[in-house]
Amino acid sequence: MRIDPGRINPLSKLDLQTRLIVGFLIATCLTGFVAALVGIWTINKSTMDEVQNRVRQDINTAKLIYNYTLERMASLIQFSAEGSDLYEALGDGKKQRLENLNGLIRHVQVIQTSGEHPFLDMLSVIDMNGKVLYRAANPKINGDDMLWDPVVRKCIETRAPQASTELIPIEKIIRENPSLAERVTIEIVKTPKSIEMEEKQLSEGMVMQAAYPIMDKKQKLLGVLIGGVLLSRDRSIVDKVRETIYHDEKYQGREIGVATIFQGGVRIATNVMTTENKRAIGTTLSKEVYQRVIQEGKDWVGRAFVVNEWYITTYTPLYNSDRKLIGILYTGILEAKYRDIMWKMIWIILGITTLGMIIAFIISLRMGNTIIKRIRILKKATEAIASGNLDYRLSPDKISGFDMLDEAFNDMSKSLKDRDERLQKAHEQLTRSEKLTALGGMAAGVAHEINNPLGGILLYGNLVLEDIPENGATRENMKKIIHQTNRCKNIVQGLLDFARTPTGDMLPLQINDVVRTALNLVKDQALFHGIEVETHFAENLPEVNGDPSRLEQVFLNLFINAADAMKEKGGRLGITTSSIVDRVKVIITDTGKGIDQAHLPHIFEPFFTTKDPGQGTGLGLSIAYGVIKRHNGFIDAESAPGKGTTFIISLPSCAAGGSGNGTSRDFPAA
Ligand code: ADP
Repeated sequence: MRIDPGRINPLSKLDLQTRLIVGFLIATCLTGFVAALVGIWTINKSTMDEVQNRVRQDINTAKLIYNYTLERMASLIQFSAEGSDLYEALGDGKKQRLENLNGLIRHVQVIQTSGEHPFLDMLSVIDMNGKVLYRAANPKINGDDMLWDPVVRKCIETRAPQASTELIPIEKIIRENPSLAERVTIEIVKTPKSIEMEEKQLSEGMVMQAAYPIMDKKQKLLGVLIGGVLLSRDRSIVDKVRETIYHDEKYQGREIGVATIFQGGVRIATNVMTTENKRAIGTTLSKEVYQRVIQEGKDWVGRAFVVNEWYITTYTPLYNSDRKLIGILYTGILEAKYRDIMWKMIWIILGITTLGMIIAFIISLRMGNTIIKRIRILKKATEAIASGNLDYRLSPDKISGFDMLDEAFNDMSKSLKDRDERLQKAHEQLTRSEKLTALGGMAAGVAHEINNPLGGILLYGNLVLEDIPENGATRENMKKIIHQTNRCKNIVQGLLDFARTPTGDMLPLQINDVVRTALNLVKDQALFHGIEVETHFAENLPEVNGDPSRLEQVFLNLFINAADAMKEKGGRLGITTSSIVDRVKVIITDTGKGIDQAHLPHIFEPFFTTKDPGQGTGLGLSIAYGVIKRHNGFIDAESAPGKGTTFIISLPSCAAGGSGNGTSRDFPAA
């Protein structure tokens, strides 16, 4: 079954350009997406860590302020308790003096700024049995027992100062100071996220208390001075916290930082505002915070929904003197500010990544286009090569970085062309060789057949000539017959030389010697006037196995042909010998008229000549071909018409198994 590649990879259905674009798009989008995600995550985490660290520090400051308030109150009580008039009043029973204490009670109900004297909500003098001697904020009621109050009880028992926050039933608070009735009454307000509370109203109030023992000079306990500050609806602590930590900073009209004192899970003193811009007194904790802080007694640090806003918050439990959890101290920073900063950063990151993505995409698109353009150019070039245009070349494009490919292509087409030329040449040589072989066979047959009759004609012709008297009329005619027959015989002999090339003894010889002998035979002849001969004979050439007279004949022929080609203008005849691997090479160059390209394939054929009738037989080169072939050698010609001709002969050296043995590679005999 064939599997459609499109089903495996949908991209493979698209063309290359679209595929590249889609690929780049996916790559850039993926990178951008991951970068943005990591960026956002990092920012989110570091911002949140930073804010949480900050709120952790804030709650410590808030605790300090809370404890400082308690300590300050304790100092005030101590200062008053140690005052001589109180001691004296208790000593001599002059209760009027106690009325001076009245000045320490604050009468302005709710609105009061922290740190201003007086700031006590309640103050009583208790005798050593726990009975109230004097109530500064409610002087009419006294004589009742105060031992229910753990602070009073512990102070009498230990005779040491006490200070702690306690929950006190509302009626007892009102008894201490009737004007606190309004402050201490707190209705529980239900909010969507708040905890379920059974009661509708708080039945107790949270009071910061400090008690100090009153002693006489003999260190005898006379009584206790106890004072308290009702935390319900008290603004001093929470506003002090806000002012100290957050410097009353605002964000979009809202307080950036808030603080709250909880009694149980209910806000009793806070600067968290409701939507009606009232202090959120009576609202309750969210369930999660309630569970962790009230039930488990642990701190809470993190996001929390407070009344109607998200805050980064810390909640820490508050305990009474019996280490019982009675409330919570809370600070929070408006999340909105950090959220907005975060979003701003996120948008910046998104912007930068998008921009980066676009730039990366454009760059990759352009690169892709360059690649595709280059591929198209290469395709065109390949098509040109395929259609046979081996001269097609690419101009190396350094800018696109494809020059390596271009150069490789050019190298390839060049070597293709070289190979093509070599193949063509080999083919030509093969064809020529086959043709010459066929011709040789025929020539040998014809020559052989004609040679015998010609011998007969010559024999009888000479016999007849002998019989004709010296001055016989037919004698001249007979001589002409014999002359022409001799010519025929020579031609036939030439043909036989080409075809069968009888060779004499084959012996090891120095090709340089053979070439020199041939050259010496001709170089002084008239034909060579005006021709400069230049020889380069390589030394220590390996010997060649050959028939020296036959080889001499070959070189003679080539020299004469060269001189013939240069006879009009003169020129230079170059002769070079060399050896390559196991062959000896002779190169003969002339600067003559050259050979027409159309003639070149035929020059080794018998009777091919361009010379005037009677000037050449056209057998010279064919005999040379036959002789060299007989020596297992190779002869070829190259020519540039008008410039000259080069003949190359290569013969196997003796070391390579010697030259021809006179029988091998012969033309088929008739
Ligand atoms: P011939 O010399 O009798 O014409 P060859 O077989 O020796 O016969 O040469 C055949 C032909 O090859 C010549 O007619 C000539 O056209 C050409 N030829 C051979 N050698 C040269 C050469 N060196 N320069 C130019 N043409 C040449």
